[in-house]
Amino acid sequence: MQNCYLEKRDRLPKSISVAVPCYNEEEVISETYKRLKAILDKINIPYEIIFVDDGSKDSTWSLISSFSKNDKTVKAVKLARNHGHQFALTCALDQSKGEVVLIIDADLQDPPELLDEMIKKWQEGYYVIYGQRIARDGESLSKKFFAFAFYRVISKISKINIPQDTGDFRLIDRKALDVLLSMRETQRFIRGMVAWVGFPQTPLPYHRAERFAGTTKYPFKKSLLLAFDAITSFSYAPLRLATYLGMFFSVISFLYFMVVIVLKFMGINFPGYTSLMGAILMLGGIQLIVLGIIGEYVGRIFEQGQKRPLYIIQDIKGEPFGE
Ligand code: UDP
Ligand code: MG
Repeated sequence: MQNCYLEKRDRLPKSISVAVPCYNEEEVISETYKRLKAILDKINIPYEIIFVDDGSKDSTWSLISSFSKNDKTVKAVKLARNHGHQFALTCALDQSKGEVVLIIDADLQDPPELLDEMIKKWQEGYYVIYGQRIARDGESLSKKFFAFAFYRVISKISKINIPQDTGDFRLIDRKALDVLLSMRETQRFIRGMVAWVGFPQTPLPYHRAERFAGTTKYPFKKSLLLAFDAITSFSYAPLRLATYLGMFFSVISFLYFMVVIVLKFMGINFPGYTSLMGAILMLGGIQLIVLGIIGEYVGRIFEQGQKRPLYIIQDIKGEPFGE
């Protein structure tokens, strides 16, 4: 998407919001706050930092609410329970009022200092500047492999171009953000949704560091669920699998039928128990898998139909940009 028409902005953004979802981040959050303040104070544009506590069980909430007590630029939001990263992030974005919004994880894997360069790209005329990882330190081999495979599969089977090896770390202009926020789907794969929105977007390569402290809040199971959400909300390919499997087995069974008839006329009969059992078990298995895939989509339609709120706010402290 890089060779698009760009309209230069020869000024700085009027205001910046920083959106930080936090879940059990007591070990890092103070450092994150410090690093964010340092870079934001240097840039010298009015700003707000929005910490959303995604139902943490540790002291994350008391830390972020104390930041907001002592610092007018901090807004602390507490969700009623753990809703998951993408929902906590949606809440932070809903709360934001800046002309541009920086999305960043609480664990300092993404360097806040890149904000400077992101703003330069924004001035060049881009609406979304997304961090693209050139290296990932301190992540397990299986996680790296899974991420590698996932981004290649999704780019093959979905119609939109989801950039490879990106997280949610990015700067978004208000115009693109407002479209994103109008999308209230319950399956939220936000980096895909941002790609879907369009506008001139550009990558900013960076080195993804190790977590500053604490452990990942995205164990393998959660990553897998996010991948399912991503695939089902951006592709029908798995549903089509049923059609292809059906066609494949129809052709095979037709050929097999021909062979059996010819053999019968030649007087050759073979006992059928093993082949019958094999065929029944295999087809039964395939049918259940296909039903399961359809179920994944039906379940998501069901959830969407319930129209529940995406997240529930228990408490808000601070209003940096006023009511
Ligand atoms: N997070 C969250 N809710 C969750 C899980 C994670 O708000 O249920 C936040 C977490 O605090 C961090 C970000 O989402 O700021 C990314 O999580 P993490 O760093 O654990 O993921 P990883 O970088 O290991 O993929
Ligand atoms: Mg992390």
